[in-house]
Amino acid sequence: MDIRIAGGHGQVARLLARHLSAIDDTVHGIIRSADQVGDIEADGAQAIVLDLESATTAELAEALRGADAVVFAAGAGAGSGAERKWTVDHGGAAKLREAAVAAGVSRYVMVSSMGTDDPPTDDEVFSVYLRAKARADEELMASDLEWTVVRPGRLEDGPGTGAVTLGRHVDRGGIPRDDVAAVLAACLHDDRTIGHVLEVVGGEIPITTALDALVS
Ligand code: NAP
Repeated sequence: MDIRIAGGHGQVARLLARHLSAIDDTVHGIIRSADQVGDIEADGAQAIVLDLESATTAELAEALRGADAVVFAAGAGAGSGAERKWTVDHGGAAKLREAAVAAGVSRYVMVSSMGTDDPPTDDEVFSVYLRAKARADEELMASDLEWTVVRPGRLEDGPGTGAVTLGRHVDRGGIPRDDVAAVLAACLHDDRTIGHVLEVVGGEIPITTALDALVS
């Protein structure tokens, strides 16, 4: 498969690129700084330098042309204010959706978050983040694209285990980023996950077994 990852220099994105490169997928990481090209290439991927906030939808569509799937793994980050939750976490995801349609790319896998089912309504930045993610998810789910929405719990560093707890709803918990990346890679290669929203945290069930149970 040829997969383009928006937010390609993110921690989950880079782990995903390594998983996909290891199984001979062609991976392009969409990054916003040319200084990051070497890191992307070290992961076995190719870099496309394009800022999701300032690029036009047409420019982003050009960057997606020929791909089999896109992944939204960008995020404004913990240190950012409410405005960038809308321009990146919602706006970047929405622009990627519109660009995918324009480029004829039908498959879209979203890195979302637990807590987006019923986000809080107050003005805390984290609440704004959850509302921005929730809106991006809702718009994707309402589209004609072949989508999967992956909602991890608290992201942790450290090695992946290859085992998770996942389902439409699971209890809150943490999960190594590497296991999130493995779930994303598995979803990209399993069309049965199209049309599914799944929450995922660390657990004991091998990823393929857990996905089999979700889609059966
Ligand atoms: P991360 O390391 O912060 O990566 C986010 C990436 O988005 C960064 O590489 C950043 O680029 C990129 N980005 C930001 N603005 C951009 C723009 N305008 N154009 C292009 N790229 C842009 O995040 P992560 O740890 O991999 O997590 C991935 C996502 O998981 C998060 O964004 C969040 O939505 C979601 N999530 C997080 C948690 C948690 O516990 N933290 C839990 C559930 C879900 P730079 O490298 O240039 O800064």
